[in-house]
Amino acid sequence: MTGPARVRDIVIVGGGTAGWMTAAALAKVIGTQTYSITLVESDEIGTVGVGEATIPPILLFNKLLGIDENEFIRETNATFKLGIQFVDWGRPGHTYMHPFGLFGADMNGVGFSHYWLRAVAAGGDPDNHRFVAEAEALRLGRFMRTPQKTPDKPQINYAFQFDASLYAAYLRRFSEKRGVKRTEGKISTVARHPESGLIESVTLADGSTVRGDFFVDCSGFRGLLIEGALQAGYEDWTNWLPANRAVAVPCDRVEDPGPYTRSTAVEAGWQWRIPLQHRTGNGYVFSDAFISEDEATAALMRRLDAPAQAEPRVLRFVAGRRRKGWVANCVAIGLSSGFLEPLESTSIHLIQAAISKLLALFPTTRNEPELAERFNRDLDLQYESVRDFIIAHYKVSTRDDTPFWRHCRDMAMPDTLQAKLESFRARGEVMVENHELFRETNWFAILYGQGLVPEGYHPLADVLSDDELKLRLAGIRAGIERRVAEMPSHEAFLRQCLEGV
Ligand code: FAD
Repeated sequence: MTGPARVRDIVIVGGGTAGWMTAAALAKVIGTQTYSITLVESDEIGTVGVGEATIPPILLFNKLLGIDENEFIRETNATFKLGIQFVDWGRPGHTYMHPFGLFGADMNGVGFSHYWLRAVAAGGDPDNHRFVAEAEALRLGRFMRTPQKTPDKPQINYAFQFDASLYAAYLRRFSEKRGVKRTEGKISTVARHPESGLIESVTLADGSTVRGDFFVDCSGFRGLLIEGALQAGYEDWTNWLPANRAVAVPCDRVEDPGPYTRSTAVEAGWQWRIPLQHRTGNGYVFSDAFISEDEATAALMRRLDAPAQAEPRVLRFVAGRRRKGWVANCVAIGLSSGFLEPLESTSIHLIQAAISKLLALFPTTRNEPELAERFNRDLDLQYESVRDFIIAHYKVSTRDDTPFWRHCRDMAMPDTLQAKLESFRARGEVMVENHELFRETNWFAILYGQGLVPEGYHPLADVLSDDELKLRLAGIRAGIERRVAEMPSHEAFLRQCLEGV
């Protein structure tokens, strides 16, 4: 083939979760026979090191790599996750769950939530654990993988909570075994071609140079290549997502903590609690316009369930995304591409989504503006839809007990979110597009869970007679109770997995 030189040498800048996930996926899919893959990371700079909770699509990533799940659980000190428990979000003293599973089952082509709304309006049970197996298992602290999907036993949807540093280390071993070269050192300069503007190489502090045809910027918040060299620009979403700080601290493990992440709304933001095998991750996401770093740290430490295992660490961020994630011969993946607070554990997923998109649009030559444009458009849509879902948690809360929550109540929201909330209010429906990560069932869990009761529901949900509806709901409830009763405790299942390695 004649024309511009083909991409052969790929350089990944950064060895955090994003860098090693990218290296592992590239090593597995494109291999290191035809291509060379080099990852540069700096021990001195280090990684963010938080990022412990995930969502179900991570199973697809593990499957792509072909890794054994029990080995992965052992290597990363992982626990299982069936969803998120939201405490004090709708209003103080109120708790609801966002489980990973589907609500009941569609009937006559109408979503189950409409029948449920009808049943609740007639005095039925408003708690979703009756109609979502994952929610019931989460509530009772039980878990078991379902080996095969059968009509009467749909698969249990789950994800993991793990130690992000151990995950990166695990993927590093995976990648190096498959020929990825690792270079340790701090990059001091980035060289670009004077005419084309394409990145040609990076130079480390010791003077050595790493040349490449295509670069993946996984350098974290600083965006060393995408912003430092290519000035892609950053779209700031603080007007919709005011949190700009987090303080994180691990504490001792609590007894049988259950297979879920907990998010508790507090005075100037929210706190996470993520149970791992060996410790519990805790953090307070807040806005420094409403509480100082010292006050937030003191509040977090006061509320820990068990003694801290390390000093608390403050992280600073700006909610938003890079205006362009792929510029010239560089694509940003991970924190370098943007940041959305970890309320729905979506950052690692967005890394995974960017990797799949990069593989789908893998460049032939160093300069592929059409592929870059396509990548940017698709990733923008993903970022925006996740952003709206996160903002919805704040907008739908009825809390007004502190200046922070009053600010959230009064702040503007994107038109795209406004439209979703209006259609939900009118008849319990949220229209989602194909590209959106969060589906109708997720929106329902959050909006309804938070206390937003729609004025109506789908008219065809009235077609079933009262008796028929009662019978079907009772059938779904009984099926869920039977399935969950078969499950061991989360702790017992985890032990089985660890013994099975
Ligand atoms: P980093 O971890 O910052 O890695 C950057 C890499 O670039 C490092 O290896 C560094 O050494 C290297 N580097 C930088 N500059 C240079 C240089 N000049 N020369 C050489 N190397 C360089 N995600 C979730 O999915 N779930 C969660 O529960 C979750 N919780 C989070 C909580 C908080 C408070 C924060 C801030 C993030 C959270 N995330 C979560 C996001 C998650 O942590 C990140 O998406 C993930 O860790 C990816 O980070 P990264 O690899 O992009 O960046």
